[in-house]
Formats: sequence, structure tokens, C-alpha cells
Amino acid sequence: MKNSLLGLLTVALFGVAGYLAFRGFSGPKGIVEKVESPGVCLACKQEVLASYKVGEAPPLVCSACGERAVFQWFYCYDCHRRFVPEPEPAPDGGFGVPMYPKCYACGCQSVQQLIPNFQEHVPSGDANLPKWPPKKS
Ligand SMILES: [Zn+2]
Ligand SMILES: [Zn+2]
Repeated sequence: MKNSLLGLLTVALFGVAGYLAFRGFSGPKGIVEKVESPGVCLACKQEVLASYKVGEAPPLVCSACGERAVFQWFYCYDCHRRFVPEPEPAPDGGFGVPMYPKCYACGCQSVQQLIPNFQEHVPSGDANLPKWPPKKS
């Protein structure tokens, strides 16, 4: 019960985060086709501005090393660090962002996708990045 409630909350927060964080590019019909969001490549550790099509899920292809390992930053309300949640095996055989992301530094779940220039998201530092490639369990 607690989990599903949290899930709902996460979905709601994600909606807001998405709305605030993404800069859209308008297509010919005025439809947003591409969004940009700050992320980091787990393979080469480069910070990149990830640009992807609407509906496309992380990880994205890194513009620096070509590996499909770019994840978006999250913010932890507990330890105030910026982090990337440990990737979870995805149905397509790759890896994706977990349904219930946890802080990679302290393990708590009061986390949200980082919104750049948002006054409540002022990271005091970065957590270590998860290992890449992740272990398949
Ligand atoms: Zn890379
Ligand atoms: Zn934390």
C-alpha cells in the first residue's frame, strides 16, 4: 500500500519535473518532438545534455563515447546529493531507470529527478555513480 502510494507520488512528481525541466523543440506542427535534460554517461562519466525524442526512455546514447549509458540526474531530499539511481534490467534486455528510484548514496526514496535552476534542488555534492555495465541479476 505504501509502495503504490509512493509510486503515484513519484509519477506525479515526474510529471511536474518533466514539465519544468525540459526545453521542448517544436516540430513543424508545433508538437514537441525532442526534449533536453541534463544527464551523465555512466560509461565515460561525462556530463551531457541529453536530447531525445518524446517517449524515448533513458539510457540515451552518449554524444562523447557512443555508449547507450546516459542517465538523468536525480536529487535526494535526504542527503541533498545529486545521483543516478542504480539501473535496473529492462524488458528489452538493456537497462533502465528503476520504477522506484533510490538514492545511490543513502538509499532513501525521497528523491526526484533533478530540475535545473530549481530553488529546492541545490545539490551539496555528487554521489558516486553506479557501475557500468550494471550486473544482470
Ligand atoms: Zn559516454
Ligand atoms: Zn540520499
